Parts: sequence; structure tokens; C-alpha cells
Amino acid sequence: MTELFVRVAVDQPMPALFDYRYALSAPPAVGQLVLVPFGRREVVGLICEVTLSTDVPADKIRAVAALCDALTPLSADWITLAAFAAEYYQRGLGEVALPALPQALRDASRWNRLLAVEPRYRLLATGRESLPESLPARASALRRLADALASERSLGLSDARALHPKAAATFDEWLTRGWIELAPPDDAAPESLECAVTLPVLTDEQRDAVDSIAHSRGFAPFLLHGVTGSGKTEVYLHALAALLAVKPDAQALVLVPEINLTPQFEAAFRARFSALAAGSIVTMHSGLAEGERARNWLAAHTGSARIVLGTRLAILSSMPNLAAIVVDEEHDPAYKQQEGLRYSARDLAIYRAKQLGIPVVLGSATPSLESWWQAEQGRYTRLTLTRRAVADAVLPEVRLIDLEQERQRGRASVDGLSGPLIAALKSRLERGEQSLVFLNRRGYAPILSCDACGWVAGCPRCSAYAVLHKPERALRCHHCGWESRIPKSCPDCGNIDIAPMGRGTQRVEETLASVVPGARVLRIDADSTRRKGSAQALFSDVHAGEVDILVGTQMIAKGHDFRRVTLVGVLNADTALFSHDFRASERLFAQLIQVSGRAGRAGLPGEVMIQTRYPRHALYQALSRQDYVGFANSTLSERRDARLPPFVYQAMLRAEGRTLEAALKFLGEAAETFASLPGADRVTVYDAVPLTIVKVFNVHRAQLLLESGSRAALQTALRAWQPVLRTLRGVLRWNVEVDPLDV
Ligand code: ADP
Ligand code: ZN
Ligand code: ZN
Repeated sequence: MTELFVRVAVDQPMPALFDYRYALSAPPAVGQLVLVPFGRREVVGLICEVTLSTDVPADKIRAVAALCDALTPLSADWITLAAFAAEYYQRGLGEVALPALPQALRDASRWNRLLAVEPRYRLLATGRESLPESLPARASALRRLADALASERSLGLSDARALHPKAAATFDEWLTRGWIELAPPDDAAPESLECAVTLPVLTDEQRDAVDSIAHSRGFAPFLLHGVTGSGKTEVYLHALAALLAVKPDAQALVLVPEINLTPQFEAAFRARFSALAAGSIVTMHSGLAEGERARNWLAAHTGSARIVLGTRLAILSSMPNLAAIVVDEEHDPAYKQQEGLRYSARDLAIYRAKQLGIPVVLGSATPSLESWWQAEQGRYTRLTLTRRAVADAVLPEVRLIDLEQERQRGRASVDGLSGPLIAALKSRLERGEQSLVFLNRRGYAPILSCDACGWVAGCPRCSAYAVLHKPERALRCHHCGWESRIPKSCPDCGNIDIAPMGRGTQRVEETLASVVPGARVLRIDADSTRRKGSAQALFSDVHAGEVDILVGTQMIAKGHDFRRVTLVGVLNADTALFSHDFRASERLFAQLIQVSGRAGRAGLPGEVMIQTRYPRHALYQALSRQDYVGFANSTLSERRDARLPPFVYQAMLRAEGRTLEAALKFLGEAAETFASLPGADRVTVYDAVPLTIVKVFNVHRAQLLLESGSRAALQTALRAWQPVLRTLRGVLRWNVEVDPLDV
């Protein structure tokens, strides 16, 4: 009898696949999940190959314990995508593929329940008549159930349970009465993409963009550069409607940078594609409960979901009929995963589109310089929206408020808010318009210090100040979560006049309440939105007009379509001007354009006030002209002169040790071993340096930058380096990041 073997990827920090004997009765296939013994445990793995031979000796080889045959195998394309991500980002295939699956699938004991085919029910003619009459007047849950049956072709039990907890028992009763019947399991609703609402008339620029995308053939990367409020969402909606209409089972993937933006997008997509069954549009992000994540993942995997809306992790979802990808706000650093597999979802989107030969649209008002450079070279097709879409809406006026000049003229600021900004806030309040005050620092004050002896509150575990949080009455470390009560006097000298220095959102909130009397001030930042769902509630208050002044961090800057905001004030932006990170100015520019873009979106003219000590700085000058193109081109030419990305490729080796010396020593040894690797002669290795915040949670961190003009040379050397690095000792952890964003 011929023996069968499978090569399996498991979630272990090793590049290898593991061979197992296969003796189960169901035939195995590539892309199926299996339960296999691994060490003393059993783990779920992915079959990557089925073969007739193995190099593992017969007495060593172990057998597959179970096969998950209820799950359609993951496609060869999907495995290739995972393999590419693993290869490019220097990981093992299993380390990429398995974490990309929902947790529930990685637990073999849950396979049966998860993959059991759920019953579907549909209404019969008799039920259509008698059922509504039979319902008691106040049985609203029952009525919802009946309505759903009446409006959908058929209804699955899990959807029904969401409407009524006792749906199963109710259906049993209705079955016996002959009002409903069991429908075949794949009885999906008719998939029409017609939409019920009247569509806005596209602007000429929008129409051109939609046409280019909809008429593209094969792999077609687009950079949709549209100013804030130019209606990029409308372009996505129209283009996807056209692309999805071509094939009855085609799927689209739409990525947004932040969980907070998914509801806004979801609402827009649901309204537009209202004829699709409810389950045809699913979301995918880390905020979903595990069960829902698994259901949505399966919907994408089986093809019943036509549109997947998600954050970066959705880029690895299994979508067998993927026909188009959209990456909204493609410049956003949130697309880069900062731990585990350090991948860029935007870059993987490009790979995936190329692999499948489909269009991919990268949209932004401030494209990343990487993408802009691709467009400059003609590798991406540029689509441009230069005007706001809403009739009469124009880009806001940007005004730079020279803090130094204000001071010289004797016009004092009140606790960081300049006179002109306060006056502007007051006039908005009088006119019943909303304002938004942006500063990228949460807490009350970043520093609490003693004038008498120079003591400063620090985190005992990190090389960082402890941030004063007034409402929470605590000192908090933003790096490790350490927290303590606020001391009443200086712990070093006993002085009771310890004072906060600088300001964060909480302090600005407090100041605003006193300098703009009568204003309803709302703060939105990571602290005020800790509870699940609270961000959504706060944003709805803003949309509902229950807020006059919104103060917050970058959470309020991104993507939101606030209709009544006419003034944006920016505080504390200068700190980013002099960062040692070469991407800091690109990020600051993008952030300021984004936040400025919240003003004047719906016809009322908008104004932006930026408080600065450096009003003549080139970045602010470009900003006040709303001149992304000028900024991008001059920054690109600086990067070219300085030989920085996107003109060279980088990778970073980071090490964490009990001491800084240990981390630096590890990196030093690593650098020495690098020299003899293939490709290394074309790679520059810089000196190992401590991170800006060197100690976090008592761990010391340092990094080593590698750079090359040749991506291939860098990749080859990194690949060869991995096994060598694994033999080095002396640190707690290390990792390699390819295309690092924070340098
Ligand atoms: P962006 O993402 O480019 O900043 P949005 O997609 O949020 O812009 O659109 C901004 C506003 O313009 C939204 O309120 C949207 O409904 C509206 N809008 C978009 N296209 C049109 C159009 N063709 N006619 C009228 N309003 C439009
Ligand atoms: Zn003191
Ligand atoms: Zn700390």
C-alpha cells in the first residue's frame, strides 16, 4: 500500500514545514487544516504539500491526528500570498498563515460547531398571510423575525438569533404550523448590485477616476490623489459597483486605517449596496468579538461576502473571488503592523493585486512618498481630484499664527491658546458652528516637576516622563502602563509647589471651558474612548451637533466627515519639525492636511489656524498653500540627495536586553556576522544605536539599520542572516523589520 505524507506549516518561529504521515480516510488536499502532534502538544497546521515520500525516517515520523474537511481548502493563491509575506518580512510561512486565520479555526475542538452547516428557513405563502396576524401586539422581537423572513429570500439561524434569542424554538413552531420551510443551505439572496438610493451626480473629476478604474484590465495600480472632501469614497463606491457587476460572484476588499472609520464606511456601503443580502458586506478588524470575526472570515472564505471592509489585518483574508482592492488613506502609518509579522498592508495589497491581475486603488489627500514616487515614474496610474465634491465647498483657508510675534506685541496666550484662536472659537460658537482643536498629546501635562529642586515625575520602569492625568488623578506612563497617585509635594525636597509643564488634551479641554464660556467641549482621545463603543458614541454626538468644540488627538483628524466644523485649531505641531526621524515631516504634513480637511466640508467656508514659532518653515508655507505636490516633490528630491527611501531600501534589526550594553553587544556581533553573507557587499550596515526611549518596562532597546540600493541584495542577505542570528545569545528578544517606518 502506498503511504501518503503531508508537509504542514505550523505557527512556530521556524521557516521549515513539518512532514507527517497521513492515514485518515478522507483524502487530504493542499490548503486544508489538520491537527498534528507537535512536541508534546497537538496544534493546528496548514497542509502545503501532499507527497508520496519524505526524508523523515520511518520511526520518527508522526501521523496527522485529524483533518478539517468541512472547510473548503485555502486556495493556492492565498498560500502563495502568505508565503510571499513570510519570505519578504523574514518569517516562517506558518507564522504568517496561521495567525491570519480566526482563532476559532485554530482550535480543532471547535471545528465541528463552527463549520456545521446552519439551517436556513424561508417563508411560505400561507405564512406570508397568517404569520403577521398571529403575532401579539407587543412582540417586537418576533415581529423583527417575521419581517426579516418576509424581506429576505431565506434566513440563516445565526442571523435569526441576532434578532430573537429564541429563534430556534420559534422556527420549530412555525415549521409545524406550515408557515415556513427549510431552505437549501446555499440558498443565498439574489445578488443584485442595484442600489435603492439616488446617487449623487459625480463631478467630472470623479467620473474620470471611476471610468479609469472600471475600465482597467488586469493588474492596474491606481493612486487616487484627492484633496480632503473631494469625494474619494464616492469614487470607490462607483468603481466597485461597476467591477462587482461584471461577475456575479466577484468580491472586493476595502481597507481603512482605523477601526473608528469602519462604521462610517460600513454605513456608506450598506446604503449603496442595499440590495445585497445583509451578510454580503462584512467587516474585519481586531475590535470584533471572536465569534463574529470567525463568521465574517468564513463568509469571505466561502464567497458569500461580496465586500470585506477592514483594517490592515483584513489584507490576509481569504477571498477566492477577489476582484478589486481599495486602500483608503494609504499613507497612514497604521497600515504597518508593528509587532509579530511586521508587514505593510498597503504593500501586500499591491502584491495581491499583481498576483491576481486585478485593480488596486490607493487613495489619499497626502499619498506616502513611496506611492507618490511610483506614480511619478508611471508605475501607478495617477487619478486626481483637485476640488471638493459638495457644491460650494472649498478647501479651508490656512492661517499661521506666529506665537513669537503675538508675544512681542504683548498679546498673551491663555494657557497655550493664542488670542486670534480664542476669538475665532468664540465667533464660531456665536454662529452655531463647530470647531475642532487638535494636538497630538493626551493627558493633562507631559511633565510634572518641582521648581525648587528640579525633580521631575518619571516612570520607574522606563526612560520616560510620567504623564499627569488630572481627571483620573494619576501619573501614567504612556509606554508601559505604570500608574501612581499624584504626589501632593515633591518626593525629593518636600516642596508643595509642584507644577505641571506643557499641555495635553485634558488641559486644553479645561482651558477651553473657561476661555470660551458656554461652549460644549468634548474631548476624544485614547483615554476618553477606552470603553468599547464609546468612540462611536462620542463621534455621533459631534455629528448630531451636540458639541461646539471638539478637542482631541489624531483620532479626530482622520477621515471623519464632520459636516458642521468650520474652524480647526492646531496646537504644539512644532515639536515634530525637528525630529531626527527623516519621515517626521512627511507625517506631520499629512496629519495637518488631514486635520485641516475636517473644516468646511459642507459649503460653509472653513478656516484653519496653526500656532507656531516657525511660520516661515517650508512645511508650513506649503501647508498654507495646500500644496501637497510641491511638498512631495521637494521632499522627494531631498530624499534622493540624502539617499533615503524610497531611493534606497532599509531594514532594521532591533534587540531588547536587560541592559543597554547587552543589546548593543548583540547588535555589534550581529553586524560582524553580516559582513560575510551573500549580498552583504551591497548593503550598508550602520552603527547600533539606542532607541530614543531606550528603556521600556525595564527592558533596554537598541537598533541596527541596514540599507541598500538593491532590494534583492538586501533580501538575500537578510534571509541568510536569520539562522546566524538565531545562534547569537545575550538578549531577551530580537526582530528584523523590513521597510521600517520609524527609523
Ligand atoms: P474624501 O474621502 O475625499 O475626504 P468624502 O468621500 O468623505 O471625501 O466626501 C466628502 C463629502 O462629499 C461627503 O459628504 C460626500 O457625501 C460628498 N460627495 C461626494 N461626492 C459628491 C458628489 N459628486 N456630489 C455631491 N456630494 C458629494
Ligand atoms: Zn523638589
Ligand atoms: Zn513606563
